[in-house]
Amino acid sequence: MIRITKIYNFEMAHVLKDYDGPCRNIHGHSYKLYVTVIGKPLLEEASPKKGMVMDFKDLKAIVKSRIVDRFDHALVISKDTDADMIASMKRHMEKLILVDYQPTSENLVTDFASIIRSHLPENVKLHNLRLWETATSYSEWFAEDN
Ligand SMILES: [Zn+2]
Repeated sequence: MIRITKIYNFEMAHVLKDYDGPCRNIHGHSYKLYVTVIGKPLLEEASPKKGMVMDFKDLKAIVKSRIVDRFDHALVISKDTDADMIASMKRHMEKLILVDYQPTSENLVTDFASIIRSHLPENVKLHNLRLWETATSYSEWFAEDN
């Protein structure tokens, strides 16, 4: 079995509702997402994908369309945010994403894992994700832990 990884970058704002620190204010991070999948390199001599676990370009397309394009330059907030505030943000922001969790890096990486897993081809499994929130902090999701 071989693991292959692609790395993505996106900018995203969030609010941690009721948090006892500065992340309760709207602010952004330059996120970095490492996506590692595992599988057997294809053996079929006649296939243009021979020797590959998965074409990097196909992995890129899945993660770009499902995660990066959606979350890049978005403001992500929990659905339990005050209704008046949500209504006001909806009027003024083009990219507001309401999630049913506190948008910490731990919860985001869990959400991203379920999105990516459901779009991978059958012969390839999601092995792990690493979501960097700052240059010195990241959360990881591993298939073996979940
Ligand atoms: Zn933050």
